[in-house]
Amino acid sequence: MRNQASPTYQLFGDFLALSWADSHESMLSLRLLREACPCAHCRGEPDLLGRILMPAQQDKHNESSYQVTALSPVGLYGIQFTWGDGHYTGIYTFEYLRGLCDCDICRAESETEAP
Ligand SMILES: [Zn+2]
Ligand SMILES: [Zn+2]
Repeated sequence: MRNQASPTYQLFGDFLALSWADSHESMLSLRLLREACPCAHCRGEPDLLGRILMPAQQDKHNESSYQVTALSPVGLYGIQFTWGDGHYTGIYTFEYLRGLCDCDICRAESETEAP
């Protein structure tokens, strides 16, 4: 795991623009971010009682699901999004966000890093 210093970030239309400490820049679409929501609810992971929540939340998305109403920093390691449909439980670590960058450079890197 790489240790990422906190990037600076801002919303830019339908994208989140991130400027990383190593001067790399990422433009992640909000749609992609929402589809990649890491919370247990969206991932369909077992809850505390061991029940598997339906991973079919995707079906309930509407246009507002891909709009961001608030961005809150989470410690020094990530961002919490509040989406237009009220969903807010996903915490996106910077490492996770960096992993979502699919620019040519990052794609080449992940190919060489793949086990
Ligand atoms: Zn979620
Ligand atoms: Zn990249």
